[in-house]
Amino acid sequence: MSKLPQITTSIFSVMSQLANDYQAINLSQGFPNFPEDNQLLEISSRLIKQNIHQYAPMAGVPSLLEKIAWQTEKKYNRKINFSSEIIITAGATQGIFTTINTFISNGDEVVILDPSYDSYEPSILVAGGKPIRVSLREDYTPDFNKIEKAITSKTKLIIINNPHNPTGKVWTKTDFEQLETILEKHPHVMLLGDEVYEYITFSQPHISFNTRPKLIDRTIIASSFGKSLHVTGWKIGYLIAPAQLMNEIKKVHQFQVFSVNSFSQHVISEYLELVDFEAISKMYQQKRNLFQELMKDSKFDLLPCEGTYFQIVNYSRISTKKDLDFAKELIQKHSVAAIPISVFYSDHTDRHMLRFCFAKTEETLYAAAEKLNKI
Ligand code: PMP
Ligand code: GLN
Repeated sequence: MSKLPQITTSIFSVMSQLANDYQAINLSQGFPNFPEDNQLLEISSRLIKQNIHQYAPMAGVPSLLEKIAWQTEKKYNRKINFSSEIIITAGATQGIFTTINTFISNGDEVVILDPSYDSYEPSILVAGGKPIRVSLREDYTPDFNKIEKAITSKTKLIIINNPHNPTGKVWTKTDFEQLETILEKHPHVMLLGDEVYEYITFSQPHISFNTRPKLIDRTIIASSFGKSLHVTGWKIGYLIAPAQLMNEIKKVHQFQVFSVNSFSQHVISEYLELVDFEAISKMYQQKRNLFQELMKDSKFDLLPCEGTYFQIVNYSRISTKKDLDFAKELIQKHSVAAIPISVFYSDHTDRHMLRFCFAKTEETLYAAAEKLNKI
């Protein structure tokens, strides 16, 4: 008896495995391939010898919680209580899963916006909830008419991923205002803001739920140090939520993982004092610009990328194949791995789109673009 009969292996595992099998350049799964910041490595080698290797407190190492509160106030001008409104999680993945399993029970509806990140639907199903999948518009902006129509008396939660994976779209102030207007009529609906790419936006600054007082009392925000600090393998992130919601989340978290690995918490706590998030955003902007420049004469049509480290492209001028088949062909014949977009839709909408991750060294981007330009 399966709780998830329709769910197969995650597209990220499938594509990274294929990339390895065919020794292709892996622009599929989203992870950087450049070295971590030396300062982070230096803190790590110093702290590894210290007595910090036993269980961390359940919600997280207090100094790290304090730094997150400090950083949240610095960036978003929002004061949060570090001991009652933050929890450290094993990546945003666990934060999202725990949030959903804290608040969603049998029959509760959760609205997610397609193309939607692959962990949302299974997490909702495990909790016994019902995913209500609402497509974004063709240009990947939110369709508030559709969102409003999807809300019923059973709707418990709406998940908003901004900046958006896989499309690279960023929500505007008007988007938030429209959401606020709708939700005024539905006080029973909670929000989960998946903001793992909060530090990676280009043309306009990221608007966080942290800065929306009308919504904040019903919002849980998920973030990821893996994404923000290029240590995806450390699997460390956090949730921010009002104390009464966080209290419930902690009840589930303590029996799911109890606490998250202590070493990375101590390292990140020190590193947060040094890290320059603006520089990280600029570094990704340069990579985006380089990749776009290198690809401009290719037969792939590049869509705007406003945030995240993903570039989506349309390949209709090259092939009429389904995107999953074309992505496999790209690995096997051209040695470059990408992510097909149809897998993020419940109805597998296929608009011949692929996602390339540009969180890579310049050398990798040049090598990949050379291959892609030959197609
Ligand atoms: N949400 C989105 C939109 C993501 O792209 C990812 C992948 N980083 C996650 C959540 C999960 O983050 P983590 O690796 O910290 O679990
Ligand atoms: N978030 C990463 C991506 O979008 C993948 C994370 C994972 O492999 N689960 O590529």
